[in-house]
Amino acid sequence: MAVRFAGGEGYMKCTSCHVNVLSEDNFTKFACPACLKDEIVRCESCRRKSNIYVCSCGFEGP
Ligand SMILES: [Zn+2]
Ligand SMILES: [Zn+2]
Repeated sequence: MAVRFAGGEGYMKCTSCHVNVLSEDNFTKFACPACLKDEIVRCESCRRKSNIYVCSCGFEGP
């Protein structure tokens, strides 16, 4: 898996549970639908449980 992102050091945290998703097989990464600036990262289990994430702009979403 070759995931690169600006400012990263081979570490990417799930926005909801803060697990290091780079050690997970399955995760989603997308721009915050509200501010389009921050990246929302969700691990497989948070996606399945529809855990709430909170962007630094204050947006909350499933
Ligand atoms: Zn998670
Ligand atoms: Zn945002």
